[in-house]
Amino acid sequence: MSKHVLIVGGGYVGMYTALRLRKKMRRQLKSGELKITMVAPQSYMTYQPFLPEAAAGNLEPRHVVVSLRRVLPGVTILNGRVTEIDHAGRKATVEVVERADAEPYEVRTIDYDTLVFCPGSISRTLPIPGLAEHGIGFKTVAEAIYLRNHVLRQLDIAASSTCPESRRQALTFVFVGGGYAGVEALAELEDMARDACRYYPDLKGDSMRWVLVEASDKILPEVGEDMGKWTVEALRGRGIEVRLKTLLKSAENREIVLSDGEKFGAGTLVWTAGVKPNPLVKKTDLPLDDKDRVKATAELTVDGVEDAFTAGDIAAVPDLTEPGQFCAPNAQHAVRQAKVLGDNVAAALRGRELKAYKHAYAGSVASLGLHKGVAQIYGVKLRGLPAWFIHRTYHLSRLPTVNRKARVTADWTLALFFSREVVSLGTLQRPREEFELATKKY
Ligand SMILES: Cc1cc2nc3c(=O)[nH]c(=O)nc-3n(C[C@H](O)[C@H](O)[C@H](O)COP(=O)(O)OP(=O)(O)OC[C@H]3O[C@@H](n4cnc5c(N)ncnc54)[C@H](O)[C@@H]3O)c2cc1C
Repeated sequence: MSKHVLIVGGGYVGMYTALRLRKKMRRQLKSGELKITMVAPQSYMTYQPFLPEAAAGNLEPRHVVVSLRRVLPGVTILNGRVTEIDHAGRKATVEVVERADAEPYEVRTIDYDTLVFCPGSISRTLPIPGLAEHGIGFKTVAEAIYLRNHVLRQLDIAASSTCPESRRQALTFVFVGGGYAGVEALAELEDMARDACRYYPDLKGDSMRWVLVEASDKILPEVGEDMGKWTVEALRGRGIEVRLKTLLKSAENREIVLSDGEKFGAGTLVWTAGVKPNPLVKKTDLPLDDKDRVKATAELTVDGVEDAFTAGDIAAVPDLTEPGQFCAPNAQHAVRQAKVLGDNVAAALRGRELKAYKHAYAGSVASLGLHKGVAQIYGVKLRGLPAWFIHRTYHLSRLPTVNRKARVTADWTLALFFSREVVSLGTLQRPREEFELATKKY
């Protein structure tokens, strides 16, 4: 009898699990004994560690995403959002691609036999006045493209305005959250903006202000305490204000208010203060822990539930290398878990024994702009150019498909010979503006 595997999410875990499962069960997939359906809002997987480089214009944004349809022939890709899962009834409700008016185009119910639940995480926000109106996250390729255009646009605004207050606001950039997403995004964008300033003689005398706001007393915990401290000093050495033990209190009307009482206008507010499990978990009958993560076993099955698997940012997977702890939400675990997950789904379908997931955290690498980085891998600490080089080599080796590796290498090679593009294509976000103007009756 034919079996239907439903994969919810087309990110790290979803894509790598599907790749592995396809490889393991090629024959069954071909003969129709197995059907795999993947539901994901986008038709591509995003390689998130390269988003800061895409935002800085070192990489073409299309090169940091991988087409799911191209790499997963034989797998049915449904572009939409799962809105509910009744695992007891083996049913998922899916809203298929949205129309321009944001109404769901079609609501479908999908029956399945085995569930792979991996919808990842979303930005963890707080009810701070003005944040929803003026802030932006840094998790998607759209946000990376927007921020690149937005930052360059702020330079255009400052260079064209005669009002000192408007100039100051446009040239003030605030990032909240000192994990790798926030630090890398800030460091890469600051590097790009400083580079672009060469072409803005009108900005001479106006200095850009880049501020990193972090609630705890350290940044980049992923690279260890001393390398985190080194990063604070390196960023401060570049003129970036790193405000530790400080909270964002308000951002109403683009006026930033910090917990130490300081107030100032900022044209850019990026929120990267951590992630939380995708709220879809609450619309399922899967067991959750106190942090709303799906309870998982070391074999990556959903704890106490038959025919359900999970991994990645959404799951509380026991860390067998540190008893009592859970695997951190990062790509390093997600990719490795997906491999075991694919094997275990295949094993379960064949009635074989499942393997446990075990991986000791190897450390982390972070890029801080062109030729700048920080890393701690297997206890080896690196900074500056060697760390940046390791960052690029490591992530290139991890990037899925030869096609994407070649394109990213080509982007980097071209960047050695030509300077970065400094054009803001912000109008991409308003493509009908020009036409609407043309159709206006005067
Ligand atoms: C800017 C940035 C830089 C990073 N850098 C690093 C790094 O250097 N090293 C590192 O180890 N980690 C890094 N990470 C973290 C890493 O990217 C994540 O831990 C990893 O992506 C988690 O994989 P996942 O499959 O669980 O989730 P994701 O990769 O986020 O995939 C989730 C998928 O589910 C889909 N989805 C969401 N809702 C629904 C729904 N309702 N129905 C169907 N599908 C849905 C999403 O669209 C997406 O396709 C970084 C993250 C960011 C944002």
